[in-house]
Amino acid sequence: MKMTPETEISALRGVGPKKAEAFRKLGVETLRDLAALFPRRYEDRTRFTPIALAMPDDTVCIRAMVANEPRLVRVRRGMEMVKLRAVDDTGSVDITYFNQNYRRDAIHMGESYIFYGKIGLLGQRKTMANPVCEQEALAGTAGSVTGRIMPVYPLSAGLTQRIVLDAVRAALDACAGHFPDALPEEILRQYGLAQADFAYENIHFPADLGALELARRRLIFEELFVLACAMQRMRGERQTASGMRMERADCAAFYRTLPFRPTNAQQRAVLAAADDLCSGAVMNRLVQGDVGSGKTLVAAACIWYVWKSGYQSAFMAPTEILAEQHEQTLRGFLEPLGLHVGRLTGSMTAKQKRGVCDALAAGALDVVVGTHALIQGTVQFARLGLVITDEQHRFGVEQRAALTGKGDHPHTLVMSATPIPRTLALMIYGDLDVSVIDELPPGRRPVETYVVDERYRARLNAFLDKLVGEGRQAFVVCPMVEENDELPAQLKSAQEHAAALQRALPHRRVGCIHGRMKAKDKEAVMAAFAAGELDVLVATTVIEVGVDVPNAALMLVENADRFGLSQLHQLRGRIGRGPFQSYCILVSDSDTDEAKARLKVMRETADGFKIAEADLRQRGPGDFFGSRQHGLPEMHIADLCADMNVLEDARAAAQAVLETDPELSRPGHAKLRTQCDRLFEANAGRWN
Ligand code: ADP
Ligand code: MG
Repeated sequence: MKMTPETEISALRGVGPKKAEAFRKLGVETLRDLAALFPRRYEDRTRFTPIALAMPDDTVCIRAMVANEPRLVRVRRGMEMVKLRAVDDTGSVDITYFNQNYRRDAIHMGESYIFYGKIGLLGQRKTMANPVCEQEALAGTAGSVTGRIMPVYPLSAGLTQRIVLDAVRAALDACAGHFPDALPEEILRQYGLAQADFAYENIHFPADLGALELARRRLIFEELFVLACAMQRMRGERQTASGMRMERADCAAFYRTLPFRPTNAQQRAVLAAADDLCSGAVMNRLVQGDVGSGKTLVAAACIWYVWKSGYQSAFMAPTEILAEQHEQTLRGFLEPLGLHVGRLTGSMTAKQKRGVCDALAAGALDVVVGTHALIQGTVQFARLGLVITDEQHRFGVEQRAALTGKGDHPHTLVMSATPIPRTLALMIYGDLDVSVIDELPPGRRPVETYVVDERYRARLNAFLDKLVGEGRQAFVVCPMVEENDELPAQLKSAQEHAAALQRALPHRRVGCIHGRMKAKDKEAVMAAFAAGELDVLVATTVIEVGVDVPNAALMLVENADRFGLSQLHQLRGRIGRGPFQSYCILVSDSDTDEAKARLKVMRETADGFKIAEADLRQRGPGDFFGSRQHGLPEMHIADLCADMNVLEDARAAAQAVLETDPELSRPGHAKLRTQCDRLFEANAGRWN
């Protein structure tokens, strides 16, 4: 049978229904998919190590002669092993195979073999258990497993490396000359990239490390290039004309009523948004700024701006607590100017909700702040002109789209405190314009940060007591513990910790918020804390997102090593907002170098970008950018952070191509266009 890239893998010899199913679990259905099943890593079996230089725990290839007749040894009932000794000019290794009795007759005394495996030590003797073994003469020839750089594939139950290896080989042979080359010729030349055939062959079966590098670079480039094209095309499509008539307004009128002077960065962001609103196109702007930089003010200015032209705004926050706080803030900013502000959250009574909905539909409310409750079908607006979402990574694109759908292409403003490297921001928000608020309001005193261990407990409690005595409040944060997780002894559960703290400080008012409470109850405790009715709030990370309690002067984090740096940064951002000196105390008993290094970063810098970078370096991108957070599709081969240089090139290349051929309608761009469309289809939900 003639095979093509579209042929199903079950057509391959040796791939029955069971194996086909196992491959399907890896997302592989056709030979083309197999060719794109990239190795997870490689084993370099091209270099041979003299036995004398092979150290315990090293995984090495040795070239050695078998010095004795392999023997079968009974270890215990039902378990036998083949033992043999191999020697080279420098030393000897004892080799054992468990439950592979055929080895006794397959390996012969006096002949030379390549053994690949991990060196162990038994007494003074070097050992290898179950190494890969191949006759020396075969190494590096077609189909061999030593003397070359071996791919290591992701597996699912029912597959072995050998099965995948053979299937991939067959797939490459079938696909040769048919790989979808999304990269136009001119880009290949300009960036010195390998051809598709070469890249696919060498990503699986690299001729040498140099070839592997060329192959990788080309495939990574291609993936990022297609992504960049798709994102930029989306941006092009997004710039639709706005049906709204916005009148130019002078923001000074808005600023005049504020209790403080807006920072220059805030004014710049407002001005950029105002330009968008009046441009005749639909605004898609991201306001990025560290915690406490004053993003809410920018939102308020935009709300005021569209209100001047007769439009309503919707402001969606990720939690009830936040929605309530934003409502209060916006009332403060906007009611003096004559706007009507309302709130819609899940915990309100049906009657309250109906009242708000009616007012929105009638145009009696100018702004509504709410949670997900805003996207329900019953919510309708008279003239929705602007949609704002706070802490955007907590909302899916679909949720934002559901809200946007309640108006006729309303303007959108997204606010985020997650600092990300610029290139990545351009990718992720490639469809958004970005304003960065890189300046904190004046008069903030830097938070003093300390790292301490359990021995300081008594002093910590005394310090807390003293601060409260001065009229301040304190946050105490414990790590979130999953519902059915068993609690490791050294971990503090918020509830128990609150009880212990209350016992230690009986004359202080200690409250607690934890994951098992109902939203309404959390709300009540938070409200009591905000109103100054509690001195100390013990909580899991529910307070991580932007709640504002200016009187709080202490952020004490228990088991601080359990938190990511960016999380700690967000937590610290909760304090230092009032006129008093504030303190962040990180309690950790972990003495691993990694934990120490992490907490040191917190002590040394308050810069959100630097902290994010350190977080990236220390935790790796997988953790940092869970794909749901950033809204980009899963990458096949590229690593959005490690491959930053390539990303830069790929973005520039994409821009250049789209400038000359925005519709990708030239024949040379047909495959690129197909790939972009495919990416769109695969991510329809994500990208609205
Ligand atoms: P973000 O949402 O960016 O974390 P907020 O909008 O909650 O920050 O603002 C943080 C605090 O700073 C709020 O208490 C707010 O009233 C205050 N604030 C905002 N802008 C200014 C300013 N220009 N001058 C002084 N205080 C400000
Ligand atoms: Mg905020």
